[in-house]
This record gives sequence, structure tokens and C-alpha cells, in this order.
Amino acid sequence: MITVITFNPSIDRLYNLDTFQVGFVQRANFVNPTPGGKGLNVAKVIKKLGETPTCLGFIGGFNGAYIEHEIECIGLKNKFTKIDDETRICLNIIDANGVSTEILEKGPTVSKNDIEEFERKLKEVLVNTKVLVASGSLLQGLPKEYYFTIGKICERENIKFILDTSGVSLELALDSNIYLIKPNKDELEALSKRNINSKEDAIDAAKKLLNRGIKNICVSMGKDGMILINEDNIYEVEVPKIEVLNPVGSGDSSIAGFAYGILKEYHIKDCLRLANACGMSNALYMETGYIETDDIETFIKDISIVEYAVN
Ligand code: ATP
Repeated sequence: MITVITFNPSIDRLYNLDTFQVGFVQRANFVNPTPGGKGLNVAKVIKKLGETPTCLGFIGGFNGAYIEHEIECIGLKNKFTKIDDETRICLNIIDANGVSTEILEKGPTVSKNDIEEFERKLKEVLVNTKVLVASGSLLQGLPKEYYFTIGKICERENIKFILDTSGVSLELALDSNIYLIKPNKDELEALSKRNINSKEDAIDAAKKLLNRGIKNICVSMGKDGMILINEDNIYEVEVPKIEVLNPVGSGDSSIAGFAYGILKEYHIKDCLRLANACGMSNALYMETGYIETDDIETFIKDISIVEYAVN
């Protein structure tokens, strides 16, 4: 099965406004609250693809209870650890031109006891886990190298570990035998400490990261598709032009496509087709971490992949 860790879930509130002006009282056309946080977006999309992932992380307070209720309605397996602090709320304000402004709360702090309880649950679910996805930021209270610790557990248990995070927690996890990371251009720039202005730059930066033991590095580039680099090959993915409504969560949806494809032991090219189709489908809808399976079937046929050997 697929297990998805979201340490810091949220209630995502999407406000749709005609115009967004700082310093004025404005009225939203509609507000759409959904359970969010990168890992929960991933889990929702995996469920839509036909697998039921098990979800771990920390939730607390009224917001946590709301998320718990929602994920049970969606049909995800709930193995969250309950904490005393309140789960966060994140805002995404979208105007009529599709311009998005996000306000993200930091989230709660976890105690030593909370972490022990999480680790007990993790041990329990890993027995049946083939693919483990960890997405998003760490919580306050967790050690900065916690994703490294999880990577090492996956290595020991022979579980494929997909890590989608950024900053210090990603840097500290790089040597933990990760199966796949999916930085976007900005994240790859931060990670490789250089500017990425072309596909060649992205490939060059990713090649250096392969030396750290990561099996697959996938650089997502929005409308320009994706590049995946592993020890043997480079895959350049081109996606067709689409009418985008809200691309937030397209990366999370791609991660879901990868996790599903890896679980089903698809060929890497089919994993890439599914991952890109999921990202594209998500971009068509207002809701974050939302896809339609009909879109996937359509898009998969229009995605082209060029494969060549690493030199
Ligand atoms: P997020 O952090 O919001 O989840 P991201 O920056 O990690 O997103 P992107 O590179 O924006 O991820 O998108 C992931 C994939 O989704 C792309 O590789 C592509 O396949 C698809 N996608 C995203 N935006 C577009 C777009 N405008 N047109 C076509 N496909 C898109």
C-alpha cells in the first residue's frame, strides 16, 4: 500500500475575488474550505486514482477534528496522531485573472510524547507499505533531520521513499537513499545553489544530486512539463497546452501519479505520463489536489517523452 505523511496538514480556504487589493475591505464570490497540506493533496489524488492511502501526521483542535472528518468522508485511512495544539489554516486568494496570493500559517508544535506516538503508528503501518510519500514542511518540535531518519527507515525496510519538501529538511535528507524527489525550478535552484535558466542547467544540477544516492530526480516545470534523471537515462516530458484555472497543487498531484505508478510497478515512462497528466488535471480546477480520471485518460495520450542515455 501507499502511506502518505503530512506532518503539518491544514484547512485550505480558497477565496475567489474579482480583484484583490491590499488595504481594502473586499467580498469573496465564494469560499471553498478543503483539507490540505501537501501530503493530504497527494493522498486525495491517489484515492481518485483508485488506491486508498494511509495518512499519518499530526492534527489537533477544532481544525484537526474538521480534517479528520473530511478525510474519513473522502475514504482515506486515518492514522494521524492527535496533539493539543490547533491545526493550521492556510489561505489562497484568487482574483478574476487567476492571480493567486497565499497566506500560510506556521502550524503547531509537537512534543516528545507526540513524536513517540507518531513513531509507534509509523512502525505499525510500514509493515504493509511499499511506497512512502512524505510531503511538505516539518513541524516545530521535530528535528530538522527527521526526513533523513525516515529515509533510513525506508532503506532498511526496502520501501520506496518519495520526498517532496524544500529547504534545510530536504538538504539534510539527501543522503538517505531516497527513491524520488521532485523539485520545481525554484526548489532546484535553492538545492543546487545556482541559477537554472534552461533544461541543460536543470539536468546538470540534477546529475550532481544523483551522486548523493537519490535514485530519481524529477524537475517539474509547470507548463513546460518535466525532466527526470536517473543513473541510466534522462527523460524530457512535453505536455500539451491547457486552459489553467488554478495550478496550485499540481506538483502534489504529480507526486500522487508517481506513487501510484511506482506501486503498480509501471515502466518509468508510464509513471511520468501519469504524473504529468495528474498535474495537468489539477490545474484545470479551483480545488487544490483535485483531478478527474477522464482528464487523465485524455492527457496521457498527448504527453510526449524523449528518452536518452546519461553521458
Ligand atoms: P505545487 O507546489 O503548487 O504543487 P509545483 O511547482 O511543485 O506545484 P509544477 O511544476 O507547477 O509543480 O506542476 C507539476 C506538473 O503539473 C507539471 O510538470 C505539469 O505536468 C503539470 N502542470 C502544471 N502547470 C501546468 C500548466 N500551466 N500547463 C500544463 N501542465 C501543467
